[in-house]
Amino acid sequence: MRSSEIRKIFLEFFKSKGHSIIPSASLMPSETDPTALFTTAGMHPLTPYLLGEKHPGGGRVANIQKCVRTGDIDEVGDSRHLTFFEMMGNWSFGEYFKKEAIEWSWEFLTDKKWLGLDKNRLAVSVFAGNFNAPFDEEAFDLWKKLGVPEYRIAKLPKKNNWWGPAGQTGPCGPDTEMFYWTGGADKIPNSFNDDDLWVEIWNDVFMQYNKGEDGKFYPLKQKNVDTGMGLERMAMVMQGKNNVYETDLFQPIIKSLGGLTAKAVKPPSEEKSIRIIADHIKASVFIIADEVAPSNVGRGYVLRRLIRRATRHGKLLEIEGNFLVKVAEPVFEIYKEFYPELFQKKEMILSELAAEESRFNKTIEKGMKQFEDVSRKGCISGKDAFTLFSTYGFPLEMTIEMAKERNINIDAKGFGKEFEEHQKISRTASAGMFKGGLADAGEKTTKYHTATHLLHQALKIVLGESVNQKGSNITAERLRFDFSWPEKMTKEQIEKAEQIVNGKIKENLPVDWAEMDLDDARKSGAIGLFGHKYETKVKVYDIGGEGKSFSKEICMGPHAASTGELGRFKIIKEEAVSAGVRRIKAILE
Ligand code: ATP
Ligand code: MG
Repeated sequence: MRSSEIRKIFLEFFKSKGHSIIPSASLMPSETDPTALFTTAGMHPLTPYLLGEKHPGGGRVANIQKCVRTGDIDEVGDSRHLTFFEMMGNWSFGEYFKKEAIEWSWEFLTDKKWLGLDKNRLAVSVFAGNFNAPFDEEAFDLWKKLGVPEYRIAKLPKKNNWWGPAGQTGPCGPDTEMFYWTGGADKIPNSFNDDDLWVEIWNDVFMQYNKGEDGKFYPLKQKNVDTGMGLERMAMVMQGKNNVYETDLFQPIIKSLGGLTAKAVKPPSEEKSIRIIADHIKASVFIIADEVAPSNVGRGYVLRRLIRRATRHGKLLEIEGNFLVKVAEPVFEIYKEFYPELFQKKEMILSELAAEESRFNKTIEKGMKQFEDVSRKGCISGKDAFTLFSTYGFPLEMTIEMAKERNINIDAKGFGKEFEEHQKISRTASAGMFKGGLADAGEKTTKYHTATHLLHQALKIVLGESVNQKGSNITAERLRFDFSWPEKMTKEQIEKAEQIVNGKIKENLPVDWAEMDLDDARKSGAIGLFGHKYETKVKVYDIGGEGKSFSKEICMGPHAASTGELGRFKIIKEEAVSAGVRRIKAILE
């Protein structure tokens, strides 16, 4: 069965069960989410609805979500882990629960009308229970009733079969996973074990608890189902292959690569370098399509890492000259029907890829030589790794990979120190620039910094002391503030917070700061991030001053001189970022 057919029947199946079909969200979580670089699962963009917001598509939806998992980069090359993959999922926002979810999973997997998989090659796992939450007997019984023999229902601990909140609090619950035996028919183990030939294909998550501030688990008001099935892994199963590179989602890429290498390689889809290039270039195409450019920070750095690692593996395969565009071409063919935007942006994507490849090709040879030189010492120092990074453009992870290949150690911590030193220098440089041409924008962002402190304190007053900052981002147009809070704020709470901030603006409070030891700052009751281990002295900004202090917060500044300068404060959006984390966007009018 072709992958396009799997997509089609998956959506058809869940449509027949009353689900509305929704499109894939971007790979970039809503704007610049500080808690996640990329969309890592179908669940990610749907978090607000899992937390109770109404979805326009209703209580049952199904989709195919593109995902990028940077955490799996090192796994790439095995039979089943990719950095870019698609996750098919069905969702219940408070409508159905375990019974329907499990029965439908089984029906879709085994019914001849749908995938028609051999039941004897399937095994499942359920949550075994611990002192916090009980054994998921309900799931166990449901599988048994469907005819899954008990020896094929593994009871696994929380590490495997629990979906937890990203923060300390929030919705969570057990899950049940489905595995397919990809080995020989005569070798199927009776029970599920950790043999690699058992491949996880689908995961049904049951959100039924809310982890409270007290660390206890309470039943959730709205119980949800969140499932995820990897398209590539399912294609592998349906096409009778034992790795994802043999499927129609990869073969055209592998073929073009096989034709480029001068080196004699095993069957191309077995060759690790070929797998890495194929995966990384596909991922890069999708990441660029979602408007990320290679850089040295955040998502841009991940993209750079992928492209440069692919370039280096091209060298290992003795591919001559620039080749990434040739490898990328088939990606557009494979996906043109499902992601028309790829095709529309093709020219931009290819030129971005080619530019990054050329940039790296200028330094890679010299960098390799440099690497050989320094690795002769038997260990790569932090300084050497940093020079490879800053002068030759070698991402740290790439240097680590190369060191591993030669069995030598690398001082990654030392690299971190060098990196920080370097950042300090460039920060000072950009601070100089800040005083120059950017004065206007500077003034506005200064006001937003001060407004952020007022908002932080106002939220503590309205919602309670447990509210903590999770992230903040300021532009000349708005402030964005992420904080720990398990649920949507009510209209009243939002208005109250606005009122408090505007009240403090009206009072025209002075904004002062003092430099002190971190310990003293803590003792003075200042809030803020205490995570900066390297700073011994910190700046504490105090809004209100002696006797009238409204907010005390550790911060680098700069800030407005008094709150009266800020103007009118208005919250324009309140939304979920991830489980247990909310985001406010606000403006000063
Ligand atoms: P594994 O243990 O194999 O890494 P996982 O537990 O990380 O899988 P989930 O987070 O439950 O997987 O994701 C749901 C489904 O998405 C999996 O059942 C699998 O089919 C697919 N999937 C997960 N990670 C990847 C990946 N890196 N590449 C391809 N498919 C994946
Ligand atoms: Mg995984």
